[in-house]
Amino acid sequence: MSRPTKAVVNLSAIRHNYQLAKQLTKQPALAVIKADAYGHGATAVALALQDIADGFAVACIEEALQLRRVGISQPVLLLEGFFTQDELAVIAEQQFACVVHNQWQLQALLAEPLSKPINVWLKFDSGMHRLGLSANDYLTAYQQLLHSPNVQQVICMTHLASADELTDPMTHDQLARFKQLVQPLNASVSVANSAAVLGWPETYLGWVRPGIMLYGASPFVKKQPDSATALQTAMTLQSSLIAIKTIKKGDTVGYGATYQAPETMYMGVVAIGYGDGYPRHARSGTPLLVNGVRCPLIGRVSMDMLAVDLRPVATNVQLNDPVVLWGGGELPAHEVAEWADTIAYELFTGITRRIKVEYM
Ligand code: PLP
Repeated sequence: MSRPTKAVVNLSAIRHNYQLAKQLTKQPALAVIKADAYGHGATAVALALQDIADGFAVACIEEALQLRRVGISQPVLLLEGFFTQDELAVIAEQQFACVVHNQWQLQALLAEPLSKPINVWLKFDSGMHRLGLSANDYLTAYQQLLHSPNVQQVICMTHLASADELTDPMTHDQLARFKQLVQPLNASVSVANSAAVLGWPETYLGWVRPGIMLYGASPFVKKQPDSATALQTAMTLQSSLIAIKTIKKGDTVGYGATYQAPETMYMGVVAIGYGDGYPRHARSGTPLLVNGVRCPLIGRVSMDMLAVDLRPVATNVQLNDPVVLWGGGELPAHEVAEWADTIAYELFTGITRRIKVEYM
């Protein structure tokens, strides 16, 4: 017997969600598997997708090399590009595609001959003001890259800041700026992240870059597009009840005694806490599934444990009964995330190393 806390990842759900991105957009798609595939395990996810994926996107060279080591031969894009000049030799050797988003990267890439030319994704800052060149610098950079022997192809890309809000005009503005800049170039382009794939058909202009949707979580905070209902949950985070007790009206629960029983009630203790990646800031009331029934979290989340109000399951519960923290088809991670003032992305990537990941 061991601690019952684990994440179960359904790889066929990830394949389904990747295929959904392809069906919706009818465009080539890079599966975004940075940050260990958003906590789902980059190696397992890449191997599960390798026969259908057009390519993969990761943050940096270390993540890309991990994929090559397990035999992934598809295109791999480095979303942050490179940080030091000496990475370029490896990028060329491994034929990684590389985002170029600033002048230093541009000059470094143009400076020395590479063993083989690479594909460059030249990033335009269309309004997010995170990474990317301004409109003024972009066209010169594009021409320099186009004429460099180090460059095989230039793909023009940008990233959307607010596509997860279907009514936000910013997406239209960013798209208009991007199109105005790149249309005369007749180049391959790439705009769409998951929110755009699910909710903004006008962004289906070329390569799409779905991330969070592969894992079955919706990026939308408010109104959901119909397409989001077709997503299949990939991760179920689960544990079990390791204590059950009756507390009296007025008794308090956990550190800081923040929860006070309104009546005599059953409560349980679950073997998972912030040391496993469950969010410490989840508020009292955050739903958990005990034997498949929604029961609210009570009190503060501890490092290894949390407490749950068992009144919704009444006495129909025993020690060691299963508890789902998110997933299981019934409890979307983005719903749990809202209770902790965060997003599913942070919940997934916050899963710590002591959580066993099982694949099905
Ligand atoms: N493209 C870029 C440039 C990104 O930085 C990311 C993620 O941060 C993605 C695509 C995927 O975004 P999402 O997970 O929202 O689909």
